[in-house]
Amino acid sequence: MALPGARPVRAPRGTALSAKSWQTEAPLRMLMNNLDPEVAEHPDDLVVYGGTGRAARSWEAFDAIVDTLRDLEDDETLLVQSGKPVGVFRTHVWAPRVLIANSNLVGDWATWPEFRRLEAEGLTMYGQMTAGSWIYIGTQGILQGTFETFAAVARKLAESTRAAGISGDAADAITTDAAASGTTETAADDEAALAGTLTLTGGCGGMGGAQPLAVTLNGGVCLIVDVDETRLRRRAGKRYLDEVVTDLDEAVAKARRAKAERRAWSIGLVGNAAEAFPELLRRHRAGEIAIDVVTDQTSAHDPLAYLPTGYAVDDWRERAAADPEGFTRDARASMAAQVRAMVEFQDAGAEVFDYGNSIRDEARQGGYDRAFDFPGFVPAYIRPLFCEGLGPFRWAALSGDPEDIRVTDEAILELFPENAHLRRWIRAAQERVEFEGLPARICWLGYGERARAALRFNELVAEGRLSAPIVIGRDHLDSGSVASPYRETEAMADGSDAIGDWPLLNALTAASSGATWVSLHHGGGVGIGRSLHAGQVSVADGTPLAAEKLARLLTNDPGMGVIRHVDAGYRRAVEVAAERGVRVPMAPV
Ligand code: NAD
Repeated sequence: MALPGARPVRAPRGTALSAKSWQTEAPLRMLMNNLDPEVAEHPDDLVVYGGTGRAARSWEAFDAIVDTLRDLEDDETLLVQSGKPVGVFRTHVWAPRVLIANSNLVGDWATWPEFRRLEAEGLTMYGQMTAGSWIYIGTQGILQGTFETFAAVARKLAESTRAAGISGDAADAITTDAAASGTTETAADDEAALAGTLTLTGGCGGMGGAQPLAVTLNGGVCLIVDVDETRLRRRAGKRYLDEVVTDLDEAVAKARRAKAERRAWSIGLVGNAAEAFPELLRRHRAGEIAIDVVTDQTSAHDPLAYLPTGYAVDDWRERAAADPEGFTRDARASMAAQVRAMVEFQDAGAEVFDYGNSIRDEARQGGYDRAFDFPGFVPAYIRPLFCEGLGPFRWAALSGDPEDIRVTDEAILELFPENAHLRRWIRAAQERVEFEGLPARICWLGYGERARAALRFNELVAEGRLSAPIVIGRDHLDSGSVASPYRETEAMADGSDAIGDWPLLNALTAASSGATWVSLHHGGGVGIGRSLHAGQVSVADGTPLAAEKLARLLTNDPGMGVIRHVDAGYRRAVEVAAERGVRVPMAPV
């Protein structure tokens, strides 16, 4: 049922301002873009993505935010408390135009039941990461992160292969670049990082559905198991998945053939992962199929959203609602069976990782005591990138004109000609990604690189080569912006996983460095009580003032990633800080 006041929303396009400047037009358009029916999952309920991640608390609050932004001066700041506009203060031109705090609760009260009680009272809302901070850009944002993860998996496989002294085709198949920054790449990266490898995963839903395309974009073969055939067909319809089969023998034969031919290909298998994974393990051990990488993105974080074995898809919702406790128990037992197979794949030599869905903890609660034997994806692959301040850099064309994104794509390729990995991503995105809402792009850039890209975009606006300003932001999942012990800060070298000061410092730094809007949230990705995270967005409007702000913001924000990892004792971060001039008063020498 839609919330009162629901209606279709679409951001204005073109160069006519509906607010007083581009600095206020930008948050206005991006708020509306988050709720565009092409972009949001359930726009009538103000839900953008990620369960119940909302852009505003109510339609009344949405209208009040829009009205306020239309009138806001360039020396005023609007304050938004969990999706409701609560004040406007006179500040100054360098201050953010909007400050946002979403879903924050005091420690002892930070539980789902208390949050739901307060939400029902109309006092808060769940902001997720980019829903309540108005910088969601649709599936492309998830696809790119997944592509980066699988590229990093490939690098790890190459290192293990080399360490084991294996040479020849298997080693050559895998890219050897040390980081996605592209500074130390080999020719192999131009080929396909995962060529000749087979990845097994589960869950082809909203976000998990990006996995097969991310694997094939890296040149590999993907076998993805989902219990719901309609989910697999939907992905096949959008070119995220190459084919769907219902028979495990057929899936195995097709996967073997594609792997032997080193052909990038994805196969969706209709089945329950808790049954398919153990059976595929048996065949792997028997030498019938060789699986190199194993992970999972079923919605295990919510036991009612994971189908236990012995249950039919058609009865799923009804049985979960009728007996949530019994269903949870059965789901956890099935997850234990799936995770046992994953651990034993690791024992048999496969690369295995948790893909941020809490399946290890659910399996542990289902009685399997080796569940945490394989790592989460951040400590396994992404942390070395975080040490360099590498993370997601996204931008959107406020004009609504796809040509503006084409021009920025070319600018990125000209700025970083040596980065073959980046070129492969941009070309693949141009070919495979359909824009949802305002045209947008994402790519991972590191310390120094983000500021260069932003300044180039600002010049292109000033030169009239872009038809309107560009909005530049990022996910809250970044190198120095999150405290989330089951995901981004799992297994920090110094044990500082749950220290929440870093995202607070990150938000304060962004607000002090010229961001146009800054957000500080709780509970995104992994749920209430489990994370704190910050975001920032800026506007390249072609003015000299914007250039000054962009230079500082887009240097200092990834700098947070570098200093966070220097502080935790990562050697690579210490080197990056020294090489690139990031000042850290107590850095080891
Ligand atoms: P979703 O609910 O849209 O999709 C989940 C899919 O799992 C569904 O298609 C469902 O049919 C399938 N499924 C459920 N039980 C199954 C079973 N027993 N066997 C096979 N398939 C089964 O969820 P989503 O948006 O795709 O997200 C999936 C999970 O991944 C979530 O837990 C999410 O938090 C996590 N996630 C993590 C990251 C990250 O940064 N690491 C990114 C995206 C998603």
